[in-house]
Amino acid sequence: MTDIPLKLFNSLTRKLETFRPVRNGEARVYSCGPTVYNYPHIGNMRAYVFADVLGRTLSFKGYKLTHVINITDVGHLTDDADAGEDKLEKAAAENAQSIWDIARHYTEAYWADIKALNIREPAKWSIATDYVPQMIDFAKGIAAQHCYELDSGLYFDVTTVADYGRLARAVTDEGEGRIQPVDGKRNAADFAIWRKTPPGESRQMEWDSPWGRGAPGWHLECSVMSGNLLGFPFDIHTGGIDHREIHHPNEIAQNQAHCHSDASGANIWMHNNFLVERSGKMSKSSGDFLRLQLLIDRGYHPLAYRMMCLQAHYRSELEFSWEGLGAALVRLKRLVMGIETLNARHAELVSASIAPREAEPRGEEWTLKQVQADDFHPEVRRFLNAYDDWISEDLNTGVPLTIVEQILALKKVDPSEKLTAVAAMDSVLGLNFMWLTRTDLRIRPKAATITEPAIEAILTQRKEARASKDFATSDRLREELAAQGVEVMDGDPLGWDWKLVV
Ligand code: AMP
Ligand code: ZN
Repeated sequence: MTDIPLKLFNSLTRKLETFRPVRNGEARVYSCGPTVYNYPHIGNMRAYVFADVLGRTLSFKGYKLTHVINITDVGHLTDDADAGEDKLEKAAAENAQSIWDIARHYTEAYWADIKALNIREPAKWSIATDYVPQMIDFAKGIAAQHCYELDSGLYFDVTTVADYGRLARAVTDEGEGRIQPVDGKRNAADFAIWRKTPPGESRQMEWDSPWGRGAPGWHLECSVMSGNLLGFPFDIHTGGIDHREIHHPNEIAQNQAHCHSDASGANIWMHNNFLVERSGKMSKSSGDFLRLQLLIDRGYHPLAYRMMCLQAHYRSELEFSWEGLGAALVRLKRLVMGIETLNARHAELVSASIAPREAEPRGEEWTLKQVQADDFHPEVRRFLNAYDDWISEDLNTGVPLTIVEQILALKKVDPSEKLTAVAAMDSVLGLNFMWLTRTDLRIRPKAATITEPAIEAILTQRKEARASKDFATSDRLREELAAQGVEVMDGDPLGWDWKLVV
């Protein structure tokens, strides 16, 4: 197995580039985190599945990974440019709750989704409000040369840095037309570094600064936390594609000012495309939206959603549908069943003392070096090489999923060896293959009222009716189950005799 270089699509150059770490053997990655004024929707979680696959790939390729994800608990306005209210202040006012309680509640909800999707914890969750003194210092450092003060706050003059907006490639008059004007701004694209609390008003979150009492701008947070925790320049900065237009160009402008350099602060800027709903852009500011818990409530295992994400390339738009999610769940079930069968076969061989490979299949995280050092059947080795090729080509996960399926289907290969290969591949895919069971995947929809023993009892009666060729009774029992949301699946190749479809 050769060492295939890792190629990543850099939004700055709009090209695939070979990953070359700033520090030998290390990979330092910053991902823009959620704004915790509401539950994350599954589109938001696509951004973290993508960042997780990136991190896992870097670890697999042998880099020592330092990943930081921030939590935005202050500063993000209802518009990504400077218009509107602070999202958290607004949520707190609407719910008559403390902003700190709101932030804590939704941060915990986000962490629960992270866990459910088997996303690895970053080295550091950086909470924006923990870094306000550093933000003020950063702003002080760039204020004289790059900023100007208005009654509403301290603003960054985007003409003071080279090539502002090169990441967005869209700072045309038309692009700027989307930005709502703030009285006195020198250029439409100028943005707030510090937002002063208007006279006579107070905010739940506000701090003293040389520009008066107020709160930091959202873009400032990410420059400060990434620079403080990773150091400029670091390797990779990630976020959703929306951030390519305003948030990241503004971070880059600040980084340039802070570092007295034309460089952007990160070598590679990567953006995942959106998960969309046919009805329009997914949004968590509209009341009823798709959150992970809704999928679970309807009986879908959260890893079925991870599977759905992995089936698409991260740079492609992905349309959500319940049918698509159902298909992803079935695919996951098939894989898990294949693995269970192999485990059983392996156990048989071991108990008969004829296991060709002594060792238990290894379920822990693998690196490419370990895969290279392990002794694999030539056909498995060929698949593992192909797997590395695909994953190294801008994190292609779609083909590797089919490689997992092909390895499981190989004839004449020892089960434990197949399992070991699958475990190695799952180090990047993160679908938890080695631990997930069929039982885990059967989730009871929240609205279901019929119990499992009741279903089994009716199915037993139905089996008896069929055995005595009483098809009228068999049909009636099937209808009875259907009325209670149970779909009977006669002859299902996966052996799932029924499913709840409420
Ligand atoms: P937010 O909490 O709105 O700041 O967003 C958190 C992350 O989700 C950011 O990286 C966004 O770019 C990303 N994001 C927002 N909407 C979507 C979507 N529909 N699909 C994929 N990523 C999204
Ligand atoms: Zn950010």
